[in-house]
Formats: sequence, structure tokens, C-alpha cells
Amino acid sequence: MAFLVAYLAIRGVFIRRARRQQKTDKGDARDRLLIAPVGIAQIVLPLVFVWTPGLAFANRAQPPACAALGIVTMAAGLWLFWRSHVDLGDSWSVTLELNANHRLVTRGVYRFVRHPMYTSFFVSGFGQALLLANWVAGLSALVAVALLVAVRLPNEEKMMIAQFGDEYRDYMRRAGCIVPRLS
Ligand code: SAH
Repeated sequence: MAFLVAYLAIRGVFIRRARRQQKTDKGDARDRLLIAPVGIAQIVLPLVFVWTPGLAFANRAQPPACAALGIVTMAAGLWLFWRSHVDLGDSWSVTLELNANHRLVTRGVYRFVRHPMYTSFFVSGFGQALLLANWVAGLSALVAVALLVAVRLPNEEKMMIAQFGDEYRDYMRRAGCIVPRLS
């Protein structure tokens, strides 16, 4: 629950900041359609699992060490989520969009990985799977995020190449996609 509150607090702050930006490009309908399952998987299903017996049919047993590992994984995911928001700054948006004066970010965590926010979703997804001993509430976030990223990532990179051309192509050679390139 503490992680959920921290997650919503980070998102809340940056959604408010993003509203100040003039957007020039709108994400496609398919992309927007895939955001809802991510929200349900990351927020609604964990709450249903904790507060109601609705998902009890999918409960599973696990050693207590899994929860400890889950806390560390979730904390790492949330740290990366927060850092990517800070480093992306005004260039962040919920759907695929560009600002009127869009700035390409290649610093901070973006120096190592082109999609650290999606990396953070996967890391938190593993954390959720370890923390919630339930097949549905535990694994749903990983499935929903994988679906969103599989559909969105090619479009997002196409959009960035159309906007920034060789600058983005050079960046693609330097930084990893989802897994950080540290060399
Ligand atoms: N895929 C990135 C950003 C997610 S937010 C990540 O996982 O960290 C989505 C918005 O970020 C897109 O609409 C795009 O406009 C913007 N974006 C993605 N990569 C960017 C970059 N390197 N610099 C500036 N904006 C970027």
C-alpha cells in the first residue's frame, strides 16, 4: 500500500506539471486503450486483492523471503520511475505526444536506457509479482505492461526518429532500449 501511495504521488505531481505543456501530437486510440489495463493491473487489482476476498481463488503459497525480495525490487522500480520522471521533465506525457518545443532527453537515467520508465514498470511488475501471493493480482501488471510496451514502443521510436532524425538514431546506438547499456 505504501508503494501504491508513493507511485500515485509521483504520477500526480508530474501529471500536474505536464498539463502546462502545449502538445502537438496525440497518441493513437490503440495506445490509449492499452493504458487502462495497466492502471487496472497496477492499482485496482492489488487493492481488490488486499481489501476483498474476490481474488482468493487465485491465491498461491510462497516462502516469506519472496516478500522481502519484492520490497527491494518494488523500491528499485519506484526509484527508477521517479528518476525518469525528473530527467524527462516537460517532455513526459501519458500517451504518445510531442510538445510544441519538444526537448530530446539523453541525460540522467536516459543516458543508459531509452525507455527507463517502461523499465521501471517491468521492475515494479516483478516486485508486484513477488509481493502479492496471487496469480491474478501478482502477474497482471507484467502482462499489461508487456502488452502496452509491445504496441507502443515501435510507434514511439518512429515518432522520435521523425522528430529528431539522426540525433535520435545516434542516441539509439549509445543507449539500451529497455535494458540499460552501461558500457
Ligand atoms: N519511453 C520513455 C518515455 C515515456 S513517456 C520512457 O520509458 O522513459 C512518453 C513520452 O515521452 C512520449 O510521448 C515522447 O514524447 C517522450 N519521450 C520518449 N523518449 C524521450 C526522450 N529520450 N527525450 C524526450 N522525450 C522523450
